[in-house]
Amino acid sequence: MRVFKFGGASVKDAAGINNVFDVLQKVGYDDVLLVVSAMGKTTNALEVVVKDYFDKSAALKASVQEVRKYHNQILLDLFEDERHPVFKAVNDLFAELDYFLGHNKSPNYNFVYDQIVSFGELVSTTILSYYMNHRGIKTHWIDVRQFIKTDATYRDAEVNWELTQKNISKGIKKKTLHITQGFLGSDENGFTTTLGREGSDYTAAIFAYCLGAESVTIWKDVPGVMNADPRYFENATLLNQISYREAIELAFYGASVIHPKTLQPLQRKEIPLFVKSFVEPLLPGTSVSKGADLEPYLPCFIVKKNQLLISLSSIDFSFIMEENISEIFALLHQFKMKVSLIQNSAISFSVCIEDKFGNFNELKNKLSKKFKVAYNENVSLYTIRHFNEKAAEMVQENKTVLLKQSSRETMQVVTKEITS
Ligand code: ADP
Ligand code: ASP
Ligand code: MG
Repeated sequence: MRVFKFGGASVKDAAGINNVFDVLQKVGYDDVLLVVSAMGKTTNALEVVVKDYFDKSAALKASVQEVRKYHNQILLDLFEDERHPVFKAVNDLFAELDYFLGHNKSPNYNFVYDQIVSFGELVSTTILSYYMNHRGIKTHWIDVRQFIKTDATYRDAEVNWELTQKNISKGIKKKTLHITQGFLGSDENGFTTTLGREGSDYTAAIFAYCLGAESVTIWKDVPGVMNADPRYFENATLLNQISYREAIELAFYGASVIHPKTLQPLQRKEIPLFVKSFVEPLLPGTSVSKGADLEPYLPCFIVKKNQLLISLSSIDFSFIMEENISEIFALLHQFKMKVSLIQNSAISFSVCIEDKFGNFNELKNKLSKKFKVAYNENVSLYTIRHFNEKAAEMVQENKTVLLKQSSRETMQVVTKEITS
């Protein structure tokens, strides 16, 4: 069996959905399971709905309507006849969302978030499944929440592998083209959970692992994994082959082309991951598998924007030692900060972090009770794997360097853009 994942960019409009049909025609769809994300930027739009809901904003109606209109336009572009049953199916999903917004009593932000944003994937897979059937590719839509079971850590749920394995082994029939939602799962009580932003790649890996799949292919708007994000670096070059280890490192440092959790399950069963272009599906793209670490061997650049650099120093000039450091980390963990770099000296400790959940103010207040806290907001973290002198110079050009660190293979530089 092969697992294919189509992300938001691949299904952002009717032309994209048509293209998914073409890709399947070209590469075959025997024994394939399709994992699909929400269309385009729908998850971001649903995050606005969540915010408006909690703010009790008058804009709530309009923000829901925007998501609805976007999908309705895609439906109108794909299906000529408005009496086609897909219109009712999608309408029913939006009615369910309205019902939730009107009746929810839970004050738990993360819980509510998951119940709302999950509609993105439910709607996209419904549209795709009906459309493929309409064009003659018979699909079987399944609700991923009946397969992927998780704990109740809403927005960042942990997979219960044992239960998930059981459900997938029992419920997925070979020789059927299944289509299901990325990013979602459900907890013990059947409530929807999500696996973290950009988590659909991970969903594909979970299915592949549990099915012992032959391969996973993630279809992208780029030719494959490149040695830099082509949005930020000119001359980004396609990598033909990378090892699991190298891919884990790249994803860990923030190469957003692969979700970091994706690789571990695949590596455990040595299931190859192909990253390919949905525009040119017959090109080989990148193979992430056992084998050469990096082919061609080039410095790889990763940039993470909008990071925070915090420097803590002891109030009384005492050393920052194990005990303090463990306390600092406990707080970073408690406030769900993603740490991407650490540096310490005798009396100071610096971390570069990403505040994914908007907890920085609370964290700062806690830290200020014990330490002098200095920080820079909105800094960029550049990581270069397999760096050389030229690559190091390039990332520092025209920027203020706030912190630099390197090991044998990896150099990291925290910079602030020079604004004049
Ligand atoms: P999806 O539609 O699957 O969610 P994403 O937008 O998350 O796709 O990922 C594809 C994007 O990842 C590309 O458009 C590219 O800008 C970005 N990207 C970041 N790092 C890399 C890299 N090293 N190689 C290729 N693309 C990269
Ligand atoms: N739709 C989700 C997101 O945008 C999951 C994904 O696309 O991978 O985060
Ligand atoms: Mg994505």
